[in-house]
Amino acid sequence: METPEKRPPTTLRDTLRVFEKVDTKYAPLTAQEVADGLGTTHKIAREHLARLTEQGTLGSKRVGDTRVWWLLADRTHREADLRRERELTDQLLKTAPVAISVKNAAGETIVANRRAQDLLGLSEREILDKPEDVDEWDIFDATGEPLDPEDTPAARVYQTGNPVFNEEVAIRRPSGEQMWFSVNAAPIFDDDGTLDRVVSAGEDITELKKRERQLEQRKSDLETELSEILGRISDGFYALDNQWCFIHVNSRAEEILQHTATDLLGTQIWTAFPDAEDSLFWEQVHEAMDSQEPVSFEVHEAHEDRWLEVNAYPSKTGLSVYLKDISQRVHREHQLERYEKIFETIQDGVYSVDNDNRFTMVNDAYLEMVEYPREELIGAHSSTVVETETTETAQEIQQSLESDEVESSKLEADLYTSSGRTIRAEATFALLPGDGDGYERVGVVRDVSDRVARERVLTARARQQKAVSELGQLALENSDLDDLFKQASQRVAAVLENDYCKVLELDATAEHLLLRQGVGWRDGIVGTATVSSVEAESQASYTLLSEGPVIVTDLENDTRLSGPELLTSHGITSGISTIIGSLEAPWGILGTHATEKKLFTDEDISFIQSVANILAEAIERQRYEDELEALVEALGESNERLEQFAYIASHDLQEPLRMISNYLQLIESRYRDELDDDARDFIDFAVDGAERMREMVNGLLKYSRVDTETEPFEPTDIEAVVERVLANLQLPIEQHAIEVAVEPLPTVYGDRKQFEQLFQNLVSNAIKYRSDASPQIEIGVTERETDWLFAISDNGIGIDTDHHERIFEVFRRLHSHEEYAGTGIGLALCRKIVERHSGRIWVESAPNEGSTFYVTIPRTEVSNE
Ligand code: ADP
Repeated sequence: METPEKRPPTTLRDTLRVFEKVDTKYAPLTAQEVADGLGTTHKIAREHLARLTEQGTLGSKRVGDTRVWWLLADRTHREADLRRERELTDQLLKTAPVAISVKNAAGETIVANRRAQDLLGLSEREILDKPEDVDEWDIFDATGEPLDPEDTPAARVYQTGNPVFNEEVAIRRPSGEQMWFSVNAAPIFDDDGTLDRVVSAGEDITELKKRERQLEQRKSDLETELSEILGRISDGFYALDNQWCFIHVNSRAEEILQHTATDLLGTQIWTAFPDAEDSLFWEQVHEAMDSQEPVSFEVHEAHEDRWLEVNAYPSKTGLSVYLKDISQRVHREHQLERYEKIFETIQDGVYSVDNDNRFTMVNDAYLEMVEYPREELIGAHSSTVVETETTETAQEIQQSLESDEVESSKLEADLYTSSGRTIRAEATFALLPGDGDGYERVGVVRDVSDRVARERVLTARARQQKAVSELGQLALENSDLDDLFKQASQRVAAVLENDYCKVLELDATAEHLLLRQGVGWRDGIVGTATVSSVEAESQASYTLLSEGPVIVTDLENDTRLSGPELLTSHGITSGISTIIGSLEAPWGILGTHATEKKLFTDEDISFIQSVANILAEAIERQRYEDELEALVEALGESNERLEQFAYIASHDLQEPLRMISNYLQLIESRYRDELDDDARDFIDFAVDGAERMREMVNGLLKYSRVDTETEPFEPTDIEAVVERVLANLQLPIEQHAIEVAVEPLPTVYGDRKQFEQLFQNLVSNAIKYRSDASPQIEIGVTERETDWLFAISDNGIGIDTDHHERIFEVFRRLHSHEEYAGTGIGLALCRKIVERHSGRIWVESAPNEGSTFYVTIPRTEVSNE
């Protein structure tokens, strides 16, 4: 704090200044106020005041009990004040940053301050000396039009007596440079009210104007650029004013809105697009305008199936709207959604792995299949669920897919689930572009365990069926039962993938079963080993008592049976055995066995049953064939005996027969005259009967000799044979005027004499059994694949169908001896001859329609046994 002693001394002049500083210069002040103003003591202030009052500079008087002093205004002071004011004005004029000039009533410039001089490039002198030159400068108004001298701001003030404010004018300097001023001009009137002077103040706004012009240029540039940008942007853009009228539409918007800008500009959007009213669009843009917040929404134009994204930016003056056709994106999204839906809803598992074979994506079905949670599988290596080789194969497939040399994009492999299960699965692969350059491998996986199991069953069944049919065939072709049993055993064991198979045959005592054939058994026991068929509880005896196949899955723990030793000694655990033959009369047992515990399917069981049936049938057929053979043998023997008998009988009968005839003839010749007519007739009948009997005996003899007294087979010209026959029969043929037609006939292999006999019998029958109509006989032949078919036809009396078979029997006749002579042996003989040549003979005929006898003779050489 300053001490009073240190205060600077004050002067009378300082005291006067205190008075001058006060607002009202001549206002009275107290001594204290002056002391305060001077910053001095009351005492000093009183001394100064007293001195100044004495000098007559200050007046003083008491007001109440307070004395006050005031400044006395004398002329000197007033002049001094005026001078000071003028100096101030001059100073202001000089230093003011605006150009100021004053014109007198005559319009001449009487004052131009420094700024005005600087700006106009003239000295004060030049201005004051040649004021008219100043006015001759070119002056322009704000629009750039030349300004008439009468129209300058100052001139107007003269004319109107009113001030002019902020009038912009341009002045071109002699140098050609143009300057801009904002001019204020005001009139000054003298005491009697006439205009005395005009003060003009011009602020240099050249820079400002320049800036303004630049800004305007910039603005217009920007506007052009904006408009270009708006035109260029690929999105549709339009702007509406606050009356919803179009004020800008770019070309893309024209396309999208399908209206030209010309049509739209100035039109209200709701007029141009009446449908837009009350739409989502309407709602959204109104909200935007109300809230002054931008909105973004998507609209679907059903008629175009087009999706638009609308972004609307509101402002006080209107709305800018951006339209983007996002149909493709939306469609893609929809498609993606659909794919996603498919992806998640398909039953197949879908996954993708990256180049490191790590899962990048899996669907629910896949997760369910492999029993892993998604978070555990994503990022995990594919070896989590498959073998390394499977991954390698999948990679190979991926490579072939990448290089387009697709062979198969499918792979079947095992999948290992988290719970340790194994699933047979089939994957189909495809490629997806990955994050980097490469591809991701997508696999669509299907659980094919069922199918594989089904296929396995089907293959097994097919193999079984094949085995059954082949064994069936073998059984037909092969009469060797042991071979059949052996092959059957091998096939059964192979098809069922069992080590053992056996065919057991029940022996005559029915107490033992012989291991007749089989596979898998110890060396040397097939053909010798036996199994008891009565031993309680053995699989063999148990099977013999069972109606169907007996299935054993675990022999040791089977409660129904145990053993036999044959099985247990081979370590057999499971198997199927079934009866060969019928339950009532079994032949034996077919069994197949495995050392491991094994489950057999129904197919396996029926397969065994089928094989057993084939064996049973083969055995049965073999038995039948054996019987037949024995029968044939027996028949042959009895036939031979019969023929022997017929031969002996006919041969031995000839002699007594001859005796009878001879002696009858002797009686007739020697005692003819002694006999009466009846006796002669009787003798004739007896002779006749003996003759017929002789013929029959001869016939029988011939018949029995067909197989015994034979000629060797040789090529025989049937045409020559027939010629001979016709020559033999020439007499009756001519006698009865019979027409005989013979086709060219072949040479066949056989017994010529017997062929002669055959044709002789057939042709003579045709002659004998002719009808009244003119008789005709035709002999023809047809060449067939394996034989010749001869046909001997007549137009005779014919034969009733009932007798077609019988006429070929020995001594079988349809007529009496009186009607047609004959013994009834002819056709029987024919049949025997034909049969000896391995041919057949039959007749086709009807009464009165003639008969045709057919004979076949093989075309191949037939051995002459
Ligand atoms: P037969 O000595 O009686 O002729 P066959 O054995 O030759 O004996 O004939 C048996 C029977 O077949 C004859 O009795 C006759 O009735 C009948 N028959 C044979 N050939 C003919 C034929 N061509 N036309 C009609 N009947 C015939």
